[in-house]
Amino acid sequence: MTIHEAHKLLKTKQLSSVELTKVCLERIQQVEPKVRALVTITDELALKQAQKADELIAAGDINPLTGIPAVIKDVICTKGIRTTCSSRMLENFVPPYDATVMEKLNGCGVVMVGKANMDEFAMGSSNEHSAFFPTHNPWDLSRVPGGSSGGPAAAVAAGEAIYALGSDTGGSIRLPAGFCSITGLKPTYGRISRYGLVAFASSLDQIGPLTQDVNDCALVLNAIAGYDTRDSTSVPYPTPDYTQCLTTDLNSIRIGIPKEYFVEGMQTEVETAMRAAISKLEEMGAKVEWEVSLPHTRYGLAAYYIIAPSEASANLARYDGVKYGFSYQDADSMWEALEKTRQYGFGDEVKRRIMLGTYALSAGYYDAWYLKAQKVRTLIRQEFDQAFDKFDALVTPTSPTVPFKIGEKVDDPLQMYLSDVCTLPINIAGLPAISIPAGFGDSLPIGMQIIGKPFSEETLLKIAHAFQQATEWHKRRPQI
Ligand code: GLN
Repeated sequence: MTIHEAHKLLKTKQLSSVELTKVCLERIQQVEPKVRALVTITDELALKQAQKADELIAAGDINPLTGIPAVIKDVICTKGIRTTCSSRMLENFVPPYDATVMEKLNGCGVVMVGKANMDEFAMGSSNEHSAFFPTHNPWDLSRVPGGSSGGPAAAVAAGEAIYALGSDTGGSIRLPAGFCSITGLKPTYGRISRYGLVAFASSLDQIGPLTQDVNDCALVLNAIAGYDTRDSTSVPYPTPDYTQCLTTDLNSIRIGIPKEYFVEGMQTEVETAMRAAISKLEEMGAKVEWEVSLPHTRYGLAAYYIIAPSEASANLARYDGVKYGFSYQDADSMWEALEKTRQYGFGDEVKRRIMLGTYALSAGYYDAWYLKAQKVRTLIRQEFDQAFDKFDALVTPTSPTVPFKIGEKVDDPLQMYLSDVCTLPINIAGLPAISIPAGFGDSLPIGMQIIGKPFSEETLLKIAHAFQQATEWHKRRPQI
């Protein structure tokens, strides 16, 4: 059931939130041994919240998210509920406050059924870098669900929750949405408050919805978007009602297809599905230009893997065993305590990023690496700005491949990094982008990415919604 379907039943009292929540909790019991999407199941809390939601509904106080079960990526702080970032470092960390997005959802009468698994500190593309266990793709349990929001995406695809919140620094909402055949939006940098989102790379991180369709995506965005005085990078723009743009008319829409995103090594089934999906948009009235060029795209991956680790190395300096989480107790000196806390608290991928970032920022190397990457970042942004003089949106695949096998890339960091080649440039430029289901190759999901200029979420939702009205891909569900 989608949010909008469940809402109708709740509103007309054909269903109660307690009943709906119990169905989700039963489903979790059933499929979780196979999918492993959740780090913490919050069943008691969920039932309490559902009861409260039913009281609100009985009093006529209902909004589109009231009483609807969700899971939250375990990088978003939840007051009184442990928030681990799937890291040993924060395994027992219980935040004393809620993230702004949680305050907003709580204000809507949210029911939270669990905190979802992820790559440690959101670094990864497959969920295999979780310190606890890998999550499995509900479409094929031997494959990855994508990362780093693999837990949230798998939970929604497997019916454990009706929607989820994730975070996206280089593709972490869109890649798992693509791999699990659901809808995932990375909003414009600044559209949603990052207060209470555990920082990975602060100039790239953004929270967003993972849902079963575009209509639901608009409803969740309505609830969580907006300016927040506690996040100085959130932007004081008014929040429109994002459901108002959900029409099916694409007649005045101009779409560009950047050829650099149809990269070497792209699987033929992905390319075939993409061409068919774009032709569909054309059939529906969009004006498509097939051969647009964004030449600086090829430097996106390199620039990202300097900027993101640099910011991560600074952000993760706070885990010193004193202020938060894990603390090594048997040391003879302060330095040994610090060293061992970080040695045992962090996994290999996190250590790799800290080392890369520390190197890129160090005296003597800063100009050659970090500064240069920032200049490339400006070029990439300018190139997008120019493209958006001509186009309302750009369309690309979400990933060059279908979901890969668990274990296939985990020992080859470069191959893993390449999974995000289509999504990283969008974070570098701070743009919004949505991934929606666009077909299957050998029964495995294929995602389509629609990119827009800053604060054009309405345009993206409109195109994506129109596509979903004309296709059935988003209605397929995996058999588990
Ligand atoms: N896969 C990318 C990385 O490992 C992006 C992760 C993300 O968006 N959080 O950094």
